[in-house]
Amino acid sequence: MDDLPYSRLVECYEAMVKTSKRTELTDALVSLYGRTPAELLGKMTYLNQGKLYPDYMGVEVGVGEKLAERAISTATGLGIQTIRELYRKLGDMGSAAEEAAKSRRQESLFREELTVSAVYDTLDRMAKSSGKGSVEARLDLLAGLMGSASPTEAKYIVRTALGKLRLGVADYTVLDALAITFAGGKEARADLERAYNLCSDLGEVAKAVARAGLKSIRSFKISVGRPVRPMLAERLSSAREIVEKLGGECSAEYKYDGERMQVHKDGGVVTIFSRRLEKITGNYPDAVKLVGSSVGARRAILECEAVAVDPGSGDLLPFQQLMHRRRKHGVQEAAARIPISLFFFDILMHEGKDMTVRPYSERRLRLESAVAEGEGIRLAPALRTASPDAIEGFMQRAIEVGCEGLVVKDLKSRYRAGARAFSWIKLKREYRSELTDSTDLVIVGAFHGRGRRAGVYGAYLLAAYDKPDDTFRSVTKVGTGFSDEDLAGLSRRLDGYRMAHPSPRLVSKMQADVWFQPAVVIEVVASELTLSPIHTAALDRIRPGAGLALRFPKFTGKVREDKSPEDATTVEELVGMYGAQLKKIG
Ligand code: ATP
Repeated sequence: MDDLPYSRLVECYEAMVKTSKRTELTDALVSLYGRTPAELLGKMTYLNQGKLYPDYMGVEVGVGEKLAERAISTATGLGIQTIRELYRKLGDMGSAAEEAAKSRRQESLFREELTVSAVYDTLDRMAKSSGKGSVEARLDLLAGLMGSASPTEAKYIVRTALGKLRLGVADYTVLDALAITFAGGKEARADLERAYNLCSDLGEVAKAVARAGLKSIRSFKISVGRPVRPMLAERLSSAREIVEKLGGECSAEYKYDGERMQVHKDGGVVTIFSRRLEKITGNYPDAVKLVGSSVGARRAILECEAVAVDPGSGDLLPFQQLMHRRRKHGVQEAAARIPISLFFFDILMHEGKDMTVRPYSERRLRLESAVAEGEGIRLAPALRTASPDAIEGFMQRAIEVGCEGLVVKDLKSRYRAGARAFSWIKLKREYRSELTDSTDLVIVGAFHGRGRRAGVYGAYLLAAYDKPDDTFRSVTKVGTGFSDEDLAGLSRRLDGYRMAHPSPRLVSKMQADVWFQPAVVIEVVASELTLSPIHTAALDRIRPGAGLALRFPKFTGKVREDKSPEDATTVEELVGMYGAQLKKIG
């Protein structure tokens, strides 16, 4: 098999960490893809993002800092204390490994050249070793790799093993690079994105486009076991506007406030993916059982909202309750304490048939025949109507039973994987108040706290996602609504995402004390959206020199664990909200 020296990859990484320009990241990837043998495309695509497999497989190398220290020590002959001091001084285990490896460069003059597949395969063996003796096995493998590595290679091997590669290579950057390298130019990105939306696996997309170009990408199909990126809703503030937008008859469904689940059934095996496409099957043994007993089809992909119910009254409970189910231990106990009901609202595949290309009305009928309602299993109630008054009435009933509002759906629309469009439109109670809707924003920077908040961050710089650009644009600085525990918890968590400079994907005029890789999403309410010269969301769109900013923002207490940074409120949505707010004032 053709291979590539790992040193080539590392040269490229060295250039990538130095840049804060996304175009330069793309160029670096294009030149790398141009030199990569076909057999390596998948592996290299994962490696560049610091992974071994697509996220949904949930595979980690399984190396922690302690193990890395020991491996560096074994490979270099330096004592653990020396390695710890290097780590303390440099603040990064990869750099500590590099320094340590330099100190014994003499001995490694005759080392064999490492290849990309050797590095990948060894990391993969580490990820797969389990059970008794697996820690020692991982240690030996990592120390062995480092023994053959140059100091710079050692740095990146350790970062990758620890899951901290952080080159800032976002999915869309990879898609751009693939389009340019294999499909004739950036224009092909939309086709590649569609394939990615259907399989959530960039390695798979890379292999397909390199093998057979655009043609194979255009005929890409969904399959059981590979999660489909979820279809999302736009928002409007009245039933009348929604009916107008959808051009008459539509289907209003209750919008449950729980956790979205994409359920894949393949014979007797049920796999559940979260909204972010993580496998959460293990957290929901009760959901697996419910699906097993109520979905007759052998091969199907369905979507539902899991909602916590009060075991005494049977009432629906708010979203926060469900986050207690996201734990590693005591799953059965949590399932007994916080039981759930599943409310199904879509079907993407039925008996192997791809339903995503069929219109909503047909999917709904198929859903009704595919799911047997019973204890803990329901379909989301749906009302077909063209009357705004009927929708308003339906909305009241939804809110009375503990729903957030409605999602109103276009009868003719196919399932648009990964898209937020007006084929689904949400109508929530908050939209009608003076306040704008809550927003989910990404923490991109922080300001040191003073006084009582010394030692933790006192305020955060927040950004919205700009989809066309694949960047994050600042909208506000928030310091209220945080309890002391919130602040301490967030500080701890964000430390894992610190960067020496603003992320290449961040557009900000504001200077924060500390910068973060876009990763953590929090929910924020605000009194209004205003034009501001300081923030960069929708800069120049409404008025030259001004962007949109949230006024009097406040953290609601919700960290949106279920959202990735690309799922945050988009600049486009903010522009829509600003327009709606003006209308209200007008
Ligand atoms: P929000 O922050 O308002 O919960 P979101 O950004 O998570 O929204 P949206 O696209 O705005 O996602 O709203 C759709 C979400 O509503 C879905 O992800 C799903 O979890 C939930 N939902 C509840 N009931 C339904 C339903 N009947 N049809 C579609 N989605 C539903």
